[in-house]
Amino acid sequence: MRAGRRARRADVRAICPASVRAAIAAHVAADWPREACGLLAGRVRADGTVEIVSAHPAANLSAAADAFELDPAARLALQRALREAGEGLAVVGHYHSHPDAPAVPSARDRARAGEAGLVWLIAAAKEGRMTALEAYLAAPGPELAPLPLEGIAEA
Ligand SMILES: [Zn+2]
Repeated sequence: MRAGRRARRADVRAICPASVRAAIAAHVAADWPREACGLLAGRVRADGTVEIVSAHPAANLSAAADAFELDPAARLALQRALREAGEGLAVVGHYHSHPDAPAVPSARDRARAGEAGLVWLIAAAKEGRMTALEAYLAAPGPELAPLPLEGIAEA
């Protein structure tokens, strides 16, 4: 670790409610076999834990079937809506799918992990069905560091 960089706490994790996981799985199925992508709204707790509250499907502007390009307008619109809602939520990350590929960052993903602090959720999918969901944290480097993803069932 480089001197001066804030130490990454070992207990930092992302928390993903079952409803968010289900929403991502539904989007992955709807866009199959193309990559699906969207934004994640939530909050970052004082201890660094990222609490994901909702998933927001966005248009994939990439012309390639195996890549994603989030619509920047979707992010601006969501940021504005969250600010206006006044509930302390912000855009904490985004998700995309890997059709017929594992839920690990591709070389392209790693090259584009420019915005430190953003959570990346990557969904592996097979035959339209989400088979795994993994979290990564974009850090200076750039790099995508694995982030423990904790599910919560909702009442
Ligand atoms: Zn990817």
